[in-house]
Amino acid sequence: MGLKELIYSLKENQALLHYNVATFEQIKAGILAVKETKLPLIFGVSEGERNYLGEDLIKEIIDFYKKDLPVFLNADHSKSFETAKKALDLNYDAVLFDGSEYFIDDNIKITKELITFREAKNILIEGEVGYLPGKSEIQKEIEIKEEYLTKPEEALKFVEETKVDLLAVSIGNVHGITATEPILDFERGKKIYELVKIPLVLHGGSGISLENLKKAASCGFKIIHLNTEFRKIWKEKLQEELKKESVTPYKILEPVIEEIKKKIIYYQENLFNFL
Ligand SMILES: [Zn+2]
Repeated sequence: MGLKELIYSLKENQALLHYNVATFEQIKAGILAVKETKLPLIFGVSEGERNYLGEDLIKEIIDFYKKDLPVFLNADHSKSFETAKKALDLNYDAVLFDGSEYFIDDNIKITKELITFREAKNILIEGEVGYLPGKSEIQKEIEIKEEYLTKPEEALKFVEETKVDLLAVSIGNVHGITATEPILDFERGKKIYELVKIPLVLHGGSGISLENLKKAASCGFKIIHLNTEFRKIWKEKLQEELKKESVTPYKILEPVIEEIKKKIIYYQENLFNFL
C-alpha cells in the first residue's frame, strides 16, 4: 500500500508515527520495531540528517526494507526548492517543503512549483503554514506568540492554491522537549482540518502526553512527528553503555537499539491504536 492510501485508510483516532533518523542504530531500531509490530513507520530525515547519512543512501536502505515491511521515507523540513527537488528526484515517499519562514505568497509560489515539478510521480508533498519555534533538543521554556499559530483562513488559501497533499500547522506545538508540556489549541486544529480537508501533520510530538497526541489524531493530525524523545534515549543509553568496559561497537550499541525500539513499539501500539 502506498503512503497516501495508507493515510486515507486510517480510522478517526489513528495516526502514523514519523520517526527521525541519522545513525545506523536509529535506523535499525525502527526496522526491528516494524518487524515486530508489522505496523507502518515513516522514517524522517531533515536536511541535516540527510546530509549526514547521505540522501541517496538512506533511500536505498529504506527501499531494501520496503520489499517486506510497511516503511516509508520523508524528506523532513526541506527549507529550499533545491533540497525538496532533490528528494523528489530520488523518489522519496513524501517531501515536506517548509516555507514557514517565507512570506505566505512566496511559500505558496515555491510549494506550487514543487507540485508542478513532481508531475505524475506518486510522492506526497507536505506544506507548512504557521511558525513552529524551537529545535529538536532539550530546551528551556518557549513562549508561544499568537502570531506563530496557523490562521485557518491562511491555511485554506494555501491548500487551495498549492494543492498540497499534507499540511503541517502550528497549534502551540514546538520542536524539541521543553520543561512543561506545550498547550495545544485543538479547536484551531479541528477548524483547519474542516476547512482544508486534507490530512494534517503534527510536528514536535516529543514532550506531549499520549492523551493529547491521541486527541490531535482525532482532530485530523494523521502523521505525528517524534524526534527529540528518541534522540534523548539514544544519548542517555549510549552514555550508560559507554561507561562499561567493552570496546566492541555492537555490544555497546545493541542495548541502545533495543531501548529505542521499545519506545517506537510503545508509540506504534498504544498511541496509534492500530490494534
Ligand atoms: Zn518538524
